[in-house]
Amino acid sequence: MTAIATDAVPDARGHFGPYGGRYVPETLMHPLQELEAEYARARRDPGFQREFEYYLREFCGRPTPLYFAERLTRELGGAQIYLKREDLLHTGAHKINNCIGQILVARRMGKTRIIAETGAGQHGVATATVAAMFGLKCVIYMGAVDCERQALNVLRMKMLGAEVVPVKAGQQTLKEAINEAMRDWVTHIRTTHYILGTVYGAHPYPLMVRNFQRIIGDEARRQILEKAHRLPDWLVACVGGGSNAMGLFYPFLNDESVKMVGVEAGGEGIATGKHAARFQGGSLGVLQGACSYLLQDEQGQIQLTHSVSAGLDYAAVGPEHAWLRDCRRVEYTAATDAQALNAFTELARLEGIIPALESAHAVAEVIRRAPTLSREQIIVVNLSGRGDKDVAQAAQFISF
Ligand SMILES: *Cc1c(COP(=O)(O)O)cnc(C)c1O
Repeated sequence: MTAIATDAVPDARGHFGPYGGRYVPETLMHPLQELEAEYARARRDPGFQREFEYYLREFCGRPTPLYFAERLTRELGGAQIYLKREDLLHTGAHKINNCIGQILVARRMGKTRIIAETGAGQHGVATATVAAMFGLKCVIYMGAVDCERQALNVLRMKMLGAEVVPVKAGQQTLKEAINEAMRDWVTHIRTTHYILGTVYGAHPYPLMVRNFQRIIGDEARRQILEKAHRLPDWLVACVGGGSNAMGLFYPFLNDESVKMVGVEAGGEGIATGKHAARFQGGSLGVLQGACSYLLQDEQGQIQLTHSVSAGLDYAAVGPEHAWLRDCRRVEYTAATDAQALNAFTELARLEGIIPALESAHAVAEVIRRAPTLSREQIIVVNLSGRGDKDVAQAAQFISF
């Protein structure tokens, strides 16, 4: 493994090597600088950190357990498998960690209105939840097609008092919802904070979101040292934008013995073109404020992506992941829809845990890798969310 200087990135302008940065219209430069400055102050303020930890503990249910998956380990007959149980958090996934952090920054800035984009609706639900908890007005942008596919989450957001705006432009999915949220932000900049849901977008979002999610890896590190008295050999996490993976990986980046695998959505297979595996089929480009690996055609037009799991179905990947891949610090693979669905049922039947279809991609990689490793090896896999939201969809593919 190559040693990497994790503290050297991002640089002052938000670059992770050639990736990241701040590719936005002039009207967004000032608000991003303002956000960067306030976040920098908050980061140095012990009172902010205490408040953040208070809400993670009392409202979200942290720390989440690091659970030894005894039957899955035995069934696979290789490495010992531990599950980081982010699925047990309030609202059902890791996304709430970041939402708590960002709404606390928004409050420091005196903002009274929160906006967000959402694809599957999970980030929208987490955002609507923290907005309700702090009594702030909340508007969620969601592609009209996604609103139909994720009707239950639309109802949850409305129940929490948020206004859900169906976006009818283009493919009517996540990309268009992000554009619309950006437009809203420019128009209402004085009152409004935009809670971005992953380690993507213009600086400082990738840095800020990673730091709010690193609680996952900080806890996992402490917990595995308590349970196994040593560091894990492998970390495995699924990669949509990449926030749950960055959260798990970041506190281990300087531990050279710890190997890391990020799992993208292989959809119907890389060769079919119907996937969201940016590192398998993508190229360098700029989308929604950042430079990174994108799925695009020769003209730079963003390609249609496909995944059985809505949360991994996005054309770009977080810039820090692109950098970690270049450094060869993290290995990136893909799991297909079929492999993820198989992992979904395996975990349900062997462990009594129904994972989110996103997380099932990470479990699929564990199912592939664990049998090739010795029984002394330890794998920590991030169970980024629970699968209640996916049961109806999975049932279309699985025979009982
Ligand atoms: C949104 C989501 C993801 C993908 O987002 P990342 O930023 O890559 O973590 C993964 N798992 C679950 C459960 C999600 O809701």
